[in-house]
Amino acid sequence: MHKVVIIGSGCAGLTAAIYTARADFKPIVLDGYEPGGQLALTTEVENFPGFPDGVLGPEFIERARKQAQKFGAEFRSGAVTQVELKKPPFKITAGKETFECETLIVASGASARTLGLESERQLLGHGVSTCATCDGAFFRNREIVVVGGGDTAMEDATFLTKFAKKVTLIHRRNEFRASRIMLDRAHKNEKIEFLTPYVIEEIQNVANQAVDSVKVRNAETNETKILPAEGVFVAIGHDPNTKVFKGQLAMDDAGYLITHDGPKTNVEGVFAAGDVQDHRYRQAVTAAGSGCMAALEAERYLAAREH
Ligand code: NDP
Repeated sequence: MHKVVIIGSGCAGLTAAIYTARADFKPIVLDGYEPGGQLALTTEVENFPGFPDGVLGPEFIERARKQAQKFGAEFRSGAVTQVELKKPPFKITAGKETFECETLIVASGASARTLGLESERQLLGHGVSTCATCDGAFFRNREIVVVGGGDTAMEDATFLTKFAKKVTLIHRRNEFRASRIMLDRAHKNEKIEFLTPYVIEEIQNVANQAVDSVKVRNAETNETKILPAEGVFVAIGHDPNTKVFKGQLAMDDAGYLITHDGPKTNVEGVFAAGDVQDHRYRQAVTAAGSGCMAALEAERYLAAREH
């Protein structure tokens, strides 16, 4: 029986691991499908306090992981396939192992949706990004592309005009899902050009490991053309990694876990931290903060159970 199991090893999970390990609870951290979370997929992180020269996302994650291990956290690979959360001990199955624990911290994150192109996969972190606030500043005076037709795409396109010379917003339909106000703001911005109904067929240039253009296709006429661009921001939504908790933890219509009083879920002793319960901020520093909150609440819960 473990005191604490943490699902997810991104910023939130690792912070929860550092705190609970320092409190001597010997947490078990289950890595999941994307060890290190979103930061492991990005390049430079310039907005985490304490790194005036920036830090590489994978390096940051590796350091946090070592920090957690130093205090006694244990990492296990394998994605969680089943959970039983009615009452403690909670049972978590990952791979061939089943873990029993008194408290559970869910930090399984949200995965950015991607277009599913091979060239996109190969250039992720090399000109292709799913996070405008993380990577926008690398595109000063460049021509870039934003893909999507929702509020995130409008917000990202508008934000990116702070840096970019020109932003082309590509959306597969002529109608937008974005709210009127966000759409109007983007329309009014002189640096943003709309290209609809277009889809991206390929991001070029994989051979150079850098983006120099995108091949786009008109969704109605099938006409194709090449658009010069040095960056591609994919802003087509996120999917929280919560399928395995359906029917056991309360979630909103989009599948994000619902928390109250900080990191508490509807099940006493189960806490949620990071992007799995936050579709608003999605920052490394906010995820770390909520991982800390979940760890402190888990400690309080364990202390109360012991008395
Ligand atoms: P949405 O699901 O609202 O929009 C996703 C967009 O991406 C849609 O336009 C969709 O096109 C497009 N899309 C999805 N898959 C593909 C694909 N494979 N290829 C091309 N395009 C694709 O996600 P958002 O992240 O924009 O927003 C999520 C939620 O967060 C919303 O409720 C939004 O209002 C909210 N939000 C609020 C903000 C604010 O108020 N400041 C800022 C950001 C988000 P189609 O329309 O054709 O389906």
